[in-house]
Amino acid sequence: MSLFSELGINKRLCKAIAEMGWSEPTPIQLQSIPVGMSGKDMFGQAQTGTGKTGAYAITAIGRTKSGSELPTTLIVVPTRELAEQVSNEIRALTKYTHHAVVTVYGGAPYADQVKGLKAGCDVVVGTPGRIIDLCGKGYLRFDAVKELVLDEADRMLDMGFIEDMDKIISMVSKHRQTLMFSATLSDDVRSVAERSMREPVEVSVSHDSLVPELVRQYYIEVKRNAKMDVLRDIMANGDPKMVVFCSTKKMVDDLYEGMSKEGVSIGAIHGDMPQNRRERTIRGFKANRMKMLVATDVAARGLDIDNIECVVNYDAPIDPESYTHRIGRAGRAGRTGVAITFVTPREDRRIPSYEEYMGKKIERVNRKQISKLQISNPELKAMHADESTKAAIRRIDAVARNATKGGHRAPRDADLTIIALDIPKDAGVSRTEIVGYVMKTSGVTEDKIGRIGIGNVSTFVEIDSAAASSVIRALNGTTFRERKVRAYPAPAKVKYKQKVKRRPLL
Ligand code: AMP
Repeated sequence: MSLFSELGINKRLCKAIAEMGWSEPTPIQLQSIPVGMSGKDMFGQAQTGTGKTGAYAITAIGRTKSGSELPTTLIVVPTRELAEQVSNEIRALTKYTHHAVVTVYGGAPYADQVKGLKAGCDVVVGTPGRIIDLCGKGYLRFDAVKELVLDEADRMLDMGFIEDMDKIISMVSKHRQTLMFSATLSDDVRSVAERSMREPVEVSVSHDSLVPELVRQYYIEVKRNAKMDVLRDIMANGDPKMVVFCSTKKMVDDLYEGMSKEGVSIGAIHGDMPQNRRERTIRGFKANRMKMLVATDVAARGLDIDNIECVVNYDAPIDPESYTHRIGRAGRAGRTGVAITFVTPREDRRIPSYEEYMGKKIERVNRKQISKLQISNPELKAMHADESTKAAIRRIDAVARNATKGGHRAPRDADLTIIALDIPKDAGVSRTEIVGYVMKTSGVTEDKIGRIGIGNVSTFVEIDSAAASSVIRALNGTTFRERKVRAYPAPAKVKYKQKVKRRPLL
């Protein structure tokens, strides 16, 4: 096993990487970090989901000191969503090196961005238009840039940013290292690479490793008019969180409408929808406010969601590259996932083309076998429950705040037992985290949990009396936030109840 520390990365950066839960480098990181650290220009062919952001961010952070007045790293990305994602990842990576990051993109007020730049920063992440804008206004200077990153170069070209990219490249000091990443290698991408880099080393992840090992792949022959029934069969198997790909916008709309009518919590994205609506839907899906996302390829490009259990190709894509790209949405971040492709009798020749491209077999299943497939992923289910709990608690808190304002009180009628956990206030744990820990560890559902009180010595949790003893058994002796937890029935003193902050039941 190869570790980050063996790639010549400094200790503080390694510490942050470990805290992010990255135990070993991904293939693209393994290939590109040593090249990057040696100072050579580099062209990386890699898609979202491969860890490419980490690859260039670790290189740039590893090669620059923090605390500079003018930015030493400039990262150019196509969209504001990606700018935010990249910035967040860099903030986590620089937890101990303390590089200051400023994110700049269009459609947002200048004030905050300008304030950040004026205060001095090490890393600027932004979209081409706004970068040039701020440069023209004199807020952004490239004199000190040592690391230039062009991320998702093919997408920036698709979006018509060619002139802006050239302008940025020409403005940044020649004494720089350039790292360019692109999912595809068209002539246009090649030409930008030639203009911006000196003898770049090319690294790429093979098709093989683009398909996460952890995705189990199946296909099923389905007549067009039976597709929706098969989709229902998949949902009936553990209610997985899934992305469903269709080949046309109309198909996306139709499926969305059909499923919504049946009460499925669903979101849809395609190229005709305004960007902000798509982003809102994606945020909702990420936060588990919906179970299913229906999408076209275009809209799903660059989707950074790593808690998907199942990808369904409702329409089989024509080219194998789209196939691998789509199914790569599952099985991310080291978790298992399932991909199921529907093929109509006329489309079944597509399967061998995918197999050949990936060098992997896709297993054929029939409708009866769907219910027997292991689709849902218990680890992800627990995570979803945790996230849904947080969302539910936010809603409850909002309701409770309104109720208090209106002078009502939320009704409470359950028979509750108070459980004590030896987690003191100074452990810095929130109520939400306690609820998540109790649910995840003991398997109780949220409706069995009442109020939570965090005291100086212990934390108190109200639990439906019928479930209390099994919850105590499940929690006692487990580890939470690196401390061993003792769980026991709280001494039944009214005093405790008064200490417990009101948190109405659902
Ligand atoms: P990217 O290809 O940069 O969009 O990264 C895809 C996802 O993988 C992101 O959520 C990263 O946080 C995560 N990731 C990147 N590198 C690693 C790693 N070495 N180990 C585990 N997860 C990683």
